[in-house]
Amino acid sequence: MIRGVIFDMDGTITVPYIDWKALRAEIRAREGSTLIEYIESLDADERKWATGVLERFENEAAMHSELNDGVRELLNLLKIRGIKTALVTNNNGQSMRLVLEKHGLSFNVNLSREDGRIKPSADLVLKAMAQLDLDREEVVLIGDGRYDLWASEEAGIPFILLRHPDTEMDHHPAVTSLGEVASLLGF
Ligand SMILES: [Mg+2]
Repeated sequence: MIRGVIFDMDGTITVPYIDWKALRAEIRAREGSTLIEYIESLDADERKWATGVLERFENEAAMHSELNDGVRELLNLLKIRGIKTALVTNNNGQSMRLVLEKHGLSFNVNLSREDGRIKPSADLVLKAMAQLDLDREEVVLIGDGRYDLWASEEAGIPFILLRHPDTEMDHHPAVTSLGEVASLLGF
């Protein structure tokens, strides 16, 4: 029985905003590594500069963020049903808090990249489950990207893909709006 829902933030809670291609180009990130892995591979001066660029993109996205359709309704329904919620984002903590404050959202657990190893590692997902006091069979993760899927797989929990019109990956189950999640989960 599902007793907790873990959400990705960028593109899942919020409308996709960050131009990842432009960001990768600006910091000259090579393909085949996550942005954070790439930044961590740089020497100290370059790392500081690239981290600054990344945070500029992230903070600007947080300031301009808009909620995806159905977010408030879904969170309200989950609260009424006693289903716990967690936000697990690869974003920085300041931008995460800015999004939460801007839109007046609250989750039982909020974890950003300052809290552990980012997705596709399962680390943050497992930490969220521990803080929610829930087991594998009691949670589901909703996200819009491959890292969310891979983190779910590593954590051994089900994954629901939120598909955007330009989403290339495929997965079952998938939804095109968070408004479809409640009936999918049988709430
Ligand atoms: Mg995302």
